[in-house]
This record gives sequence, structure tokens and C-alpha cells, in this order.
Amino acid sequence: MTAYDQFQLHIAELSDILNAISILKWDARTQMPPGGAQTRGYQLATLSRLAQVHFISDKTARLLDAVEAEIAGEDEDSYRVRAVRQTRQYYEIIRRIPLDLVSAKAELEPVSEGVWAEAKANNDFASFAPFLQQQLELAKRQAEAVGYTEHPFDALVFEYEPSMTAAKLNRLFEQLKAGLLPLLKRIVANDRPLERDLWAQEYPIDKQKAFALDIAQRFGYDLNRGRLDIAPHPFEISFTRQDVRITTRYNRNYLPMALFGTLHETGHALYEQGVDPALTRTALTIDFLGKYPVGGTSYGAHESQSRLWENQIGRSREFWNVHFGRLCDYFPEQLADADADLMYRAVNRVRPSLIRVEADEVTYNLHIMLRVEIEMGLLDGSLKVNDLPEIWNAKMQEYLGMTPPNDSKGVLQDVHWSGGGFGSFPGYTVGNVMSAQFLQAARRDVTGLDDALARGDYAPLLGWLTDNIYRHGRAYSASELLQRATGRDLEVGPYLHYLETKFTDLYRLGN
Ligand code: ZN
Repeated sequence: MTAYDQFQLHIAELSDILNAISILKWDARTQMPPGGAQTRGYQLATLSRLAQVHFISDKTARLLDAVEAEIAGEDEDSYRVRAVRQTRQYYEIIRRIPLDLVSAKAELEPVSEGVWAEAKANNDFASFAPFLQQQLELAKRQAEAVGYTEHPFDALVFEYEPSMTAAKLNRLFEQLKAGLLPLLKRIVANDRPLERDLWAQEYPIDKQKAFALDIAQRFGYDLNRGRLDIAPHPFEISFTRQDVRITTRYNRNYLPMALFGTLHETGHALYEQGVDPALTRTALTIDFLGKYPVGGTSYGAHESQSRLWENQIGRSREFWNVHFGRLCDYFPEQLADADADLMYRAVNRVRPSLIRVEADEVTYNLHIMLRVEIEMGLLDGSLKVNDLPEIWNAKMQEYLGMTPPNDSKGVLQDVHWSGGGFGSFPGYTVGNVMSAQFLQAARRDVTGLDDALARGDYAPLLGWLTDNIYRHGRAYSASELLQRATGRDLEVGPYLHYLETKFTDLYRLGN
């Protein structure tokens, strides 16, 4: 057996343990009766400990030394070299994090999340503040342990978006604001109510599911390697490319919730199902830090795909021109005097709102910037936990022209900080920006792409995305993927152009 084969076997076992953990998590979030929670907690803790022991072991160190000697001189871009290099990188990082910090975080998380849920229900930021302060202290310790050169935020965002830093994000946000804020102003000034409210009637759930799955399959989601279930907080999860599951939630009246939720998770799933089979059970489909994207290279890269399929395809005029008739087959009475144009406008309403998860394409990134700016300020000490409600409300007023009536609809709305998840928010905006760059490059490379999309033929787009993004798993960073596929690094131009064009037409903002 070569050193590489031995290394690979060791990593394959780690992959099996991690995927077993994921299956238990999927089950807990979709099927498990409430009574199972406590023993499920033990099972997850035991398997997580086994994974940790397996990875942070002398055996891993020996295998890495041997395989690094064996592959020396091989092509730097090859999957073999990338698999070894990434394993080494994460091995060193994880060893730098003290065990007492790991257990302190694990212990604080459920307590802090519980306190946050109560605080949110009771609109009581003061009761949550001490726990947020503790989470912040642990995050600072984590940043010091992992290491950074400029800003402590860099060490935390690395876990989700390795190509990003605080400085790069600040530049990105300034450019986005310069485009988004004036566009939003013009839209709000031109807002007129739609001639008919499509969401005042009932859309039976079984039909909602059938239509959403019909579209997901047209996009390329393979149900032989996937399934759709219900979850209160929808997500996608994969246990190798051979089993990639999605979830959604339903609202009887508000059809877009389940439909676009499903298309969003389908985008994540297409990424996972499109990974090169040769990467199955290798380091290039493992998330060593236990964060969210598994087969995908970063949070942002993953989110670029969910948003591309949900928004740039699913909320496009071409999409509704070709699929509205099909939707009417499912809901003939509800949509009797509607047409594709009305549906297109109804699923693209722009409206400043208080809640991030309900935000439209134009305002969404403003919600993200506000959060990331606050995280950076907390970590570098320029903002204090106790001042957060005031800071939050001031930024909401500045970006969206609204002030939350209470903290439950303001600073307390998201679960992320209670779990110590500092550094995860930028991925959403990075993903939005990337999605436009990828679609622009696909249009450049694939002749007749728009004609195919207008026919509802998604194979050419899926093929380009698979070749340029999906098949590589985690072999290349988000920045490398962008360079290889588009010839450019992350830039806001294509994304702002997409939004400008779409909403100028939708809201008739032309001169
Ligand atoms: Zn997503």
C-alpha cells in the first residue's frame, strides 16, 4: 500500500464517522420524536468525540508526514496534493485550539441558545446580554488561538469563508452600499400595489410539494440520490454525493415560502450531487471544522449556488414565462385570472423589512452588512454588547429607513450569536455576489444559454456549473474557483448590474 492509500483509508474512516453524525442530525431535525432528544445528544457527543480522536491523533501526524514525502513534486493543483495540503492545514489549526475552549463552547451553546429563545420571546435583551458577552469572550479566545494578522474577525470568518478578511469585506460592503442604497430609494419611491393579491387564497400543500419537486428535478436534482422532507428551519444536508437531502416548510397561503425554499435548497443539493465521484470519502468532501458546506468549498460558494437557482433562475421572467402554465395545472382555480407577468412581479416585490429571512433580493445584503459590521466592532472592542440594541436600530434606520418596534424584531431576531456563530454571516452576501459572476461567465462560455433557459432546459447551465464548480468539491478555494471559472476575483460589478437591470425593468425606473 502506498503512503497515499494509507492516508486515504484513514480519512475515509473519518468521513464515515462525520456522515453518520450528519444522518443523526438530519433525523433529529425531520423525523425524531421529541422524547429522543436526550439520548440523541449522547450519540452525537460520542461520535463527535470519536471523530476528534481519530483526526487529532499521532496516526494522522505519521500518515501526513509519510504522504507529504511521497507526493512531493506532484502537480500543485491535483486533487491528491490538495487533499493532503488541506488535511495538514486543518490538522494544524484544530490542534491550536485548546481543549478547554472546545468544551467551554460546547457547554455554553445549549444554555445560551435557551436564554436567547426566552429573551426573544419576552423582548428582553438585558437577560441575554451576559451570555452574548460570554460567547464573545470565547470567540476572542478562539481567534487568538487560531491566529490572524490584521483583525480578530479574520480568524473567525476563515472557518466559513477562507478567502475573506475584515478588510476585504469592508471594501466589498462599501461598493455594494454605493449601488444598493440609491437603487432601493428609487424602488421605494416608485412602489405601487399589485392589481391582485395572489396570496389571499389556499394552495394545498401536497400540490405545492409536487410542483416544487417537479421544478427541482427539471433543474437536475436526482431523487434517486435525494429526497424532500419538512423542517421548521429548512436546510440541505449530504452524506456523500450519493445521498443529498433537502427540506422545506409550507404556508397554505403564501406559496413562495415552500417553492423558493425548495429551489434554494435544491441549489445547495445540485452542488453536492455534482461532486466528482472520485472525491467521495476523501479530504476534499470533508468539513474538518464541522461547519456547514460539506462537498462545497466555502459557505459563500455554496450559497452562490442556492441563490443562483432560487433567485437568478427561479425568480426570472424567463422562468415564469415557461413555467406559469405548469403552475396553473396544479392550481387552476387559484390562478384563474392571473398571468406570468403578475406572478413574476408578485415573487419579486421589494420592500424594506425588519426581518432578514423575509428580505427580498435588494434589501437582503443590507441586513447582512449590519450584522457583520457589528460582529467586527464587538471583536475589535469598538462596540460594547450592552449598546447593541441602540447600534442595531441606528443602522436599520440608516440602511433600511426603519426602526424596529422592539428588540425581538431587532437585535434578538437571529439565533447565530447565541450559538457563538461569529463569522458566518458574510457567506450570504459573498454568495450573492459570486452567483452573478458565475452566471455571467456561463453566458460567456455556453452558446445559446439564454435560449435554453427560456425553453426551461437547464442542462447546459448545470453542465457548466458542474464542470467549473461542483465537481471540484473543496479542492479549490472560493477565490480560486472564481479565478479559474471567470478569470476574475470577487467583484460587485456583475451582481449590481443584475439587480439594476432587473429592478429598473420591474419597477419601471427608466428615465
Ligand atoms: Zn442556503
